[in-house]
Amino acid sequence: MRIVDIIAKKRDGLALSQEEIDYFIQGYARGDVPDYQAAALAMSIFLNGMDARETTDLTLAMAHTGDVLDLSDVVPVAVDKHSTGGVGDKTTLVAEPLVAACGLAVGKMSGRGLGFSGGTLDKMESIPGYRTNLNPEEFMDQLRTVGLVLTGQSADLAPADGKLYALRDVTGTVQSIPLIASSIMSKKIAAGAQAIVLDVKVGVGAFMENLEQARQLAELMVSIARLAGRKAVALLSDMNQPLGNAVGNALELKEAIETLHGAGPEDFREHCLVVAGHLLALGGKAADEAEGRRMALEALQAGRGWEMFRKLVIAQGGDVSYVDEPDTLPSARLVKRVAASHSGYLSGINARIIGETVVMLGGGRSKKDDPIQYGVGVIIHHNVGDQVQVGEPLFTVYAEDDKLLADAEQRFQEAHTWSDSPVEPLPLFYGVVR
Ligand code: URA
Repeated sequence: MRIVDIIAKKRDGLALSQEEIDYFIQGYARGDVPDYQAAALAMSIFLNGMDARETTDLTLAMAHTGDVLDLSDVVPVAVDKHSTGGVGDKTTLVAEPLVAACGLAVGKMSGRGLGFSGGTLDKMESIPGYRTNLNPEEFMDQLRTVGLVLTGQSADLAPADGKLYALRDVTGTVQSIPLIASSIMSKKIAAGAQAIVLDVKVGVGAFMENLEQARQLAELMVSIARLAGRKAVALLSDMNQPLGNAVGNALELKEAIETLHGAGPEDFREHCLVVAGHLLALGGKAADEAEGRRMALEALQAGRGWEMFRKLVIAQGGDVSYVDEPDTLPSARLVKRVAASHSGYLSGINARIIGETVVMLGGGRSKKDDPIQYGVGVIIHHNVGDQVQVGEPLFTVYAEDDKLLADAEQRFQEAHTWSDSPVEPLPLFYGVVR
């Protein structure tokens, strides 16, 4: 078998066999297949797609490039959630501690920023010392002793996805249903979660821009989970405007901390409670998601979610004084609050433009090894449907450089669209795929 023939076959729109997919992925994980060939295959998949069988084979091939954890001896049930990627989506930082605080163990392997969407690992790495490279023994140990793990792909767990994910980020190959489904599900299978809540984002700030594509991705992932013997449910959630107010790594971390303290933006808090409710129901702790939501709310109000988050930071080597005093977290050199230049109703806050602009400010990567500027980003002060008066704060930009700040200010202005007549707020969710 030759790697170039596999690429050419997919380039020509043909389905790859399981052997071909395994051969390619094993070779890539070992380092025998170079990045340029993997990028060519990713682009061919992006352009020509994969059917459900190929996507399942790709998922299992990636999961089996490393260890596949069996957590059945570690905890009675391990649950996990995963988002398909959005702007301002820091749900994991709140929902998972809440669920763990309700006595259900959560073991999560997260990713970094991808294209215009932020990544949980980059957010957590705003905390000095926080380790995102736990090995499988450490992962299982912490799951048993703390009940909550939030780490990245170690060399031992789905390493092929770790490499491909970073490559896709910088080769224009993110927005592909088979690549997203296999990326997410290979990590979930490798990390051993028995019950998985998938948060499938839909809208201009998501990789799936319409409901039909989002539903297709959701159904594919739920069916891969079933084939791999795991339980899964997928929520279809809005990503036309950013979730919460903060976009940017340390800013999002601070917003998550505020939320765990019982404050935080209403849309974000509700989103986290619903996700946590589904996790508690799927993991068998609650009779249904409504009861799960109530349990999560109690954990939030009693401060148990916050305590769990602190335990997580300590367990993974982070300096907890930074989360205790969030003002000490990385902060940008320049901060500018921008006021509304006229009055009206907000008809749109384009999450895609906002995500791309935060990447441009240095909050994401343009090349694989680009460093992240943890303190840059934006706080959006309103939601779609809000009535805003001229002179009220519209957004606050956090930047390291004057020129970038000026460019970003203009783009954030463009992201806000206005109407003279009242506008309906956007829903948080569009449906559930079981
Ligand atoms: N999250 C992932 O882990 N992978 C993707 O491809 C998209 C979102």
